[in-house]
Amino acid sequence: VKLSIWHLIKTLKKTFYGLFIMPLFEYARRVVDLYRIGPALDIKGSQQSLLKRVKLAFYTLDSSTLDLVVLDEAVAEILDISFEHEGERSSNRNLKTWLNPIDKQRIVTCFEQVGEGGEYELKYRITTFKDQMKWVLDKGVKKKSQNQVLCIGVWKDITEFELIKQSLDFLSRKDPLTGLLNRFAFNDEFEQWVEQQRDKKNYFALLRLQIDNYEHLKDTLGVENIDQFERLYALKLKEIMDSSAILSRQGVGLYCALLPLTDVDDEMTVINYCTLIQRHSLSPMAIKQLSLKVSASVGISLSPKYAEESHLLTRQADMALQKVIENGGNHYAFFSEEMNERVRFKTMVENELLEAIEAKQLYLEFQPQVDMSAGQILGAEALVRWRHPVHGFIAPIDFIDIAETTGLIRELGMWVFSQACKVRSSWAGQLPSDVVMAVNVSPIQLDERFVDFVHRTLRQYQLPPKCIEIEVTENHLMENFKDRISNLKALSKMGIPLAIDDFGTGYSSLSCLRQLPLQKIKIDRSFVKDITDIEHSDGNAIIKAILAIGSSLNMKVLAEGVEVEFQEQYLKAQGCDAYQGYYFSPPVSSIGMIKLYNEQAAKREEDGLHASQ
Ligand code: C2E
Ligand code: MG
Ligand code: MG
Repeated sequence: VKLSIWHLIKTLKKTFYGLFIMPLFEYARRVVDLYRIGPALDIKGSQQSLLKRVKLAFYTLDSSTLDLVVLDEAVAEILDISFEHEGERSSNRNLKTWLNPIDKQRIVTCFEQVGEGGEYELKYRITTFKDQMKWVLDKGVKKKSQNQVLCIGVWKDITEFELIKQSLDFLSRKDPLTGLLNRFAFNDEFEQWVEQQRDKKNYFALLRLQIDNYEHLKDTLGVENIDQFERLYALKLKEIMDSSAILSRQGVGLYCALLPLTDVDDEMTVINYCTLIQRHSLSPMAIKQLSLKVSASVGISLSPKYAEESHLLTRQADMALQKVIENGGNHYAFFSEEMNERVRFKTMVENELLEAIEAKQLYLEFQPQVDMSAGQILGAEALVRWRHPVHGFIAPIDFIDIAETTGLIRELGMWVFSQACKVRSSWAGQLPSDVVMAVNVSPIQLDERFVDFVHRTLRQYQLPPKCIEIEVTENHLMENFKDRISNLKALSKMGIPLAIDDFGTGYSSLSCLRQLPLQKIKIDRSFVKDITDIEHSDGNAIIKAILAIGSSLNMKVLAEGVEVEFQEQYLKAQGCDAYQGYYFSPPVSSIGMIKLYNEQAAKREEDGLHASQ
């Protein structure tokens, strides 16, 4: 519905004046006159012209039969009948024949209930002689005249006003794309459900549903077709949902539903709905010659089981939704207390991570990386740790992803990088210059600012670029691939060696890998863990495949998480270049690293002596 706001305001102002102020004023005059002169129409001169201007239609009804005793031209005009055709008029003299069926019973009852001398004000629909639906505002009074009780009143045709009002209501309550309730209207409903729940102990579930991989879907369909998709999807949801449920579209690919339940723990009803949603989402949808299958993630909270306030229920359903999304989507999850704990922890990390850097609660450990054939230390991977005054030791696995999603990884990453450079420069004279410091860099922090920071930091510590190696994980690397690849190229151009970390766990395609200026692939420890003594096991096959990729792309391959001799032996036999893991050493302090190197050097010297004897 295209209506300019100004046009609406102007129309409404006019309508308000025309509908209420003028008629009220005029109606008062008319009723006074009528009381004096009875049911006959006897309005003359200026009064009549005023009546015409405000378009009031005057009628008199027999209150028991609702037969129109007197109707003026304006009434006939509203009913689309003409005085020339007497037949039309007389055969339709009863008001009931004109009342729209939806309003009929209500209006007949209203007329019955008004007492003698009582006034009434009604709003209803009529179906005109030309079969058109019109809205009328009806104001009148019930009055005894001789031996008849009459209803004497005026009609005002308010069809235009009602239609504008309806479209305004529609615009303010409905999502224009799907016709479902919008966020604001849904919130109103939600508050009412919460209130009712408190009064009567009604039970209900709040579902928050997100279409999986929406961005990808948008790319596939194009912006011009994504609206069509949302419309069809909303239709599907409407079909699934019970009529007692409330459904709303809250944003792009995001829907919300309120579902009545039979008891406080009635998870079965919700599960049944979620299963239907899952099934319907996956059934193909035809849009522009494409047969689309989508999936959706649903987070659920139950009222009053988990909360009795709308904002808490929303938060809980959101937590559950996030959990589903983190686990790959296409599923549903109920909120649990454990999620609350996770969110509290996440909030703590968000609030305290930067302060932790200032407060020197963060520090680095270093895990040696060893040459497979000679067993010589080639470098060390810097790994960040957090010693929290309340939570104790926090492993990076618990805060890196939070830092990534909140963007704090930029600050954290710069601190780690400069700290690693500082330590590396402190090793000068104690460790050979070719022992490389490997630093983990999240693809999210890989922007021009970081490239510039790397350049400045290397200068600050007077480190040649080849002393530092940057490890990037596959995860997130494919997002913004163009920007990230150009920043990686800039780092590589500076002379910094690059490695891809946790290889095989992300989604990077081989063609993308070829475009990256990489020197090293790190096999993720999950694959190393799977090495068995059965020659054709899956674990071994993956290791072999990664080694083959490394050799064909001319990259070194380092295996992570080598814990036992058997793994080291197998990797060596397969031609792996280097490894790190508890088998050689866990991550240690900077001093620990120097000690390890010296012990290793002494041992090799001793082995060399033995060999030459
Ligand atoms: P990663 O880069 O793959 O680091 C290797 C992880 O494996 C380290 O865990 C290390 O302690 C662990 N590890 C090493 N050898 C073994 C072994 O033999 N067995 C087992 N089970 N584990 C072993 P950590 O330190 O907990 O780090 C976990 C991840 O956190 C790292 O994985 C890395 O992705 C991330 N991370 C750590 N420090 C940083 C950092 O400064 N910046 C960024 N962006 N990420 C970091
Ligand atoms: Mg790493
Ligand atoms: Mg790794």
